[in-house]
Amino acid sequence: MSIEVHPAIAAISPYVPGRLAEDVEREFGIAQATKLASNENALGPSPKALSILKEASKTLNRYPDGNGSALKKAIAARCGIPVDRIILGNGSDELISLLVKTVMAPGDDAIISAPSFSIYEKAVTAGLGNAIIVPLTNHCYDLSAMATAITPRTRLCFVCNPNNPTGTVVGREQLLSFLRQMPNHVLVAVDEAYGEYVTTPDYPDTIALQSQEYPLVVLRTFSKIYGLAGLRIGYGIASPDVIEAMNKVRLPFNTNTLAQRAALAALQDDDHIQASRTMNRAGKTLFYEMFHQLGLPFIYSEANFVYVDTKRDGKTVFEALLRFGIIVRHIDGPMLRITVGRPDENERFITAFHTVMQTPAL
Ligand SMILES: *Cc1c(COP(=O)(O)O)cnc(C)c1O
Repeated sequence: MSIEVHPAIAAISPYVPGRLAEDVEREFGIAQATKLASNENALGPSPKALSILKEASKTLNRYPDGNGSALKKAIAARCGIPVDRIILGNGSDELISLLVKTVMAPGDDAIISAPSFSIYEKAVTAGLGNAIIVPLTNHCYDLSAMATAITPRTRLCFVCNPNNPTGTVVGREQLLSFLRQMPNHVLVAVDEAYGEYVTTPDYPDTIALQSQEYPLVVLRTFSKIYGLAGLRIGYGIASPDVIEAMNKVRLPFNTNTLAQRAALAALQDDDHIQASRTMNRAGKTLFYEMFHQLGLPFIYSEANFVYVDTKRDGKTVFEALLRFGIIVRHIDGPMLRITVGRPDENERFITAFHTVMQTPAL
């Protein structure tokens, strides 16, 4: 027996996650692989989050708080906004998909960019919408080109800020002028998965912009700097009417008890955030120095990964690194994305990368 799958769904290419360390260890007979492929926090989960898990697990026989009240209240307090502007999601991945389901009908358009986070296109296509792709210009979001691509069928624009995989940011004025051009029927989703790593003063304060009634949805996650990727929890900030509509679409218990409790603890763990930022800054500096020495073009990143032009076939370099137990991300052509790790991991990457790049056969 076979079922008929909608051609648009059948055509979706599956998400390719970073290779798991265990798999690479098995495949290449390596004792310890180093995963610098998924922009996770190599420092680990917030210790404050870990310390409440045992206690929190005593209520696992009960359903979670479907409303996520305690966590939403803490986020609201941190952001200085009312609770009715917050929604929790099973990772911000779920919120991306919820947003598509909430505001798009089949046949509607969403404007996205490339290379950028691949989930936008998948979510739009899965909702039988059209993903209109406006390529990056000089590795940055081209918001004027995106504004030009808006039609009466456009419902959503996704802006990944900082952008995964390039690490570039859209500045305040750029975003503001884009928002001013938005017609009433378009919502702009700004994905700030790496926002906590940003240091440029030009980074837009999206919560302030939202208070000025711009049609903005902000997506954030506990998967990156907070180190809770395995628990699956993120949050969205939008106007109360958008949040209300998204709440109608989401499943009632989309975030679990442990994730809510751990996220609440992690949110208050300023030491862990600070240590993560410091580790990231030091690691990026080492990577930049090496790329500079090797004469490889790279982009200064506002996130916890670096995008580099290997000037060779990137897939070949990626595979050669795997044999050294180093897992990075091949993006396209010569481009690789390398997550900043702990100092020991960064050293292993640097050693392997030097060796690989000195191999003439590549
Ligand atoms: C990692 C990442 C996310 C977060 O995904 P979760 O579902 O919250 O784990 C969202 N957006 C971008 C751009 C990312 O890189």
